[in-house]
Amino acid sequence: MLYQSTRSKDRVTSAQAIVRGIAPDGGLYAPEALPSFSWDEILKLADMPYPQRAAHVLAALLPDFPEEELRRSAEKAYARFDGDSPAPLKKLGNTRVLELFHGPTMAFKDMALQMLPHLMRLAARKTGEERDIAILTATSGDTGKAALEGFADVEGTSVTVFYPLGGVSAIQEKQMVTSRGKNTHVIAVRGNFDDAQSGVKKLFTDPEFIEAMAASGKVLSSANSINLGRLAPQAAYYFSAAAQMMREGAVGRGKELDVCVPTGNFGNILAAWYAKRMGAPIGKLICASNANDVLTEFFLTGVYDRRREFKKTISPSMDILISSNLERLLFEIGGLEKNTAWMDALKKDGVFRLDRSEHEQLRAHFLCGSADDRETAEEIARMWREERYVMDPHTAVASAVLRKLRTEGKTKNPVLLVSTASPYKFAPDVCTALGIDVPDDPFAASEALCAATGLPIPAPMRELREAPVRHTRVCGKDEMGQAVLAEMGQAGDKGTGNGQ
Ligand SMILES: *Cc1c(COP(=O)(O)O)cnc(C)c1O
Repeated sequence: MLYQSTRSKDRVTSAQAIVRGIAPDGGLYAPEALPSFSWDEILKLADMPYPQRAAHVLAALLPDFPEEELRRSAEKAYARFDGDSPAPLKKLGNTRVLELFHGPTMAFKDMALQMLPHLMRLAARKTGEERDIAILTATSGDTGKAALEGFADVEGTSVTVFYPLGGVSAIQEKQMVTSRGKNTHVIAVRGNFDDAQSGVKKLFTDPEFIEAMAASGKVLSSANSINLGRLAPQAAYYFSAAAQMMREGAVGRGKELDVCVPTGNFGNILAAWYAKRMGAPIGKLICASNANDVLTEFFLTGVYDRRREFKKTISPSMDILISSNLERLLFEIGGLEKNTAWMDALKKDGVFRLDRSEHEQLRAHFLCGSADDRETAEEIARMWREERYVMDPHTAVASAVLRKLRTEGKTKNPVLLVSTASPYKFAPDVCTALGIDVPDDPFAASEALCAATGLPIPAPMRELREAPVRHTRVCGKDEMGQAVLAEMGQAGDKGTGNGQ
């Protein structure tokens, strides 16, 4: 099975797609065809430990990688997670919460970003790439730290993370600017996430920048959720969760579960879509947005219109107006020509419109909804009051949307609610939602949250408090290339920890 660019006839192997990150024409690599699992094959996953489940799913999606090799990588990647399973299920009535935040950065990005460096190294070897791989990535908050953690001191790689200055939580920022590793770089951009992401995309197709990097023996790649090496490990946890629900009888043979996903860049829910297409018993996919509800409107009307105010919310990792991974879905339903036209229109006019037939195809599979900050905070309070379950704001957006859809009778299957962050990662807002008085300091907020709920503070949060700042660079949105080159030039000076 090969992967094809969503914007040209460029076709590559899975290993090449991972090394490149994004296609040279600016497109994303999408599978030409998807493998398929039978009910019994999925059910058998329930008897395996998580790394083995993941390896089995990944081997089908990444044919260049033998299953045994993937299993060894997955064992290393998921060893850094707390608890018995990296992706445990919590039962709350007829909802199962899939907790994906037990990794080193307390957000679901770890599920893929602990795995990606292994895939990247193996893929580089398979494609004969001998240059160092320079990872460039934009983050709305959580990707950044997860990439920095995953790649820190991985031989033959470096990682540069751009984040919107003032556009991430205090804890997210602290996590990033304290990152260790000789090969890690963190740069704040004066702009919002879309500026940072567009800037990174431009660098990937900027011949002068590519040339300058090549001159120092580096080839660019991406750890953003557009990288196939991010997407594939995410499909695995949907199979894992489905297998467990099938084994427990929560999903009977021939029946389905619906998934509800707090969505930003559309990577997580796209992985659920691939899992569905690969035979996982998934009915509806519920795309939940915060006040930046461009996707909700898109699924309801078939019109994607980014010409709107960018809103900062208490679920910052979903504050996105251009959901990059949607392009893979658009390519699948519309094909190359239509997708290219839609993407051109989005770039030129900020808007595109699906034809009726494509819109109907989407409506058959996707439900959607949005929750603003007030509804999100109410949902956090309500889940604690009624279920004694503490949710982070991203998860609460999805939970609030699910509640509305259930009231409207739109989802009747058992639901897998995807929980993407630990409440401790957003402790001040969670405390406020719960009516707990909090000082401004996020660490004091963690202690207050722990005192009020009894939920233990995760180790990475405890360690963060004392960690020294190591990264201080800030740049304008048109200076990102120069900033990277300046960082690379200085790389030898890192590690003194005297970051003023
Ligand atoms: C990244 C992120 C999301 C959004 O995921 P996408 O794959 O970008 O849609 C939701 N919640 C949290 C906590 C995140 O870090």
